[in-house]
Amino acid sequence: MTIFSKIVRGELPCKKVYESDEFLAFYDIAPKAKVHILAIPKRELKDFNEIDPALMERFSAFILKVVEVAGIKESGYRLITNTGAHSGQEVPHLHFHILGGEPLGALI
Ligand code: AMP
Repeated sequence: MTIFSKIVRGELPCKKVYESDEFLAFYDIAPKAKVHILAIPKRELKDFNEIDPALMERFSAFILKVVEVAGIKESGYRLITNTGAHSGQEVPHLHFHILGGEPLGALI
């Protein structure tokens, strides 16, 4: 079981931002920006390669709600999901990093 599944089950604490029956958003423990939130499906999917389009539709709606609740929808934010060995993904449980709250350095 991943550490994120333990968070979903309440076995590990998190600073929750928003939750639905299917998804959970909480603050990253080692923030890389003023606002750094992780959005995850409660069901354990390894990474973006395991996503199906119908789930992504619901996940997108959830993330839009999260950025609204976090107050960064208008100021802007960056979504990142690491997938596979070359990405350096550390936690094998699909998650989107939501970064914002301040100007972010250009990546590309
Ligand atoms: P990734 O490299 O994309 O797999 O990112 C994993 C992220 O999970 C990192 O940004 C970590 O800081 C974050 N993280 C690891 N453990 C926890 C935790 N218990 N609560 C919140 N964030 C965590």
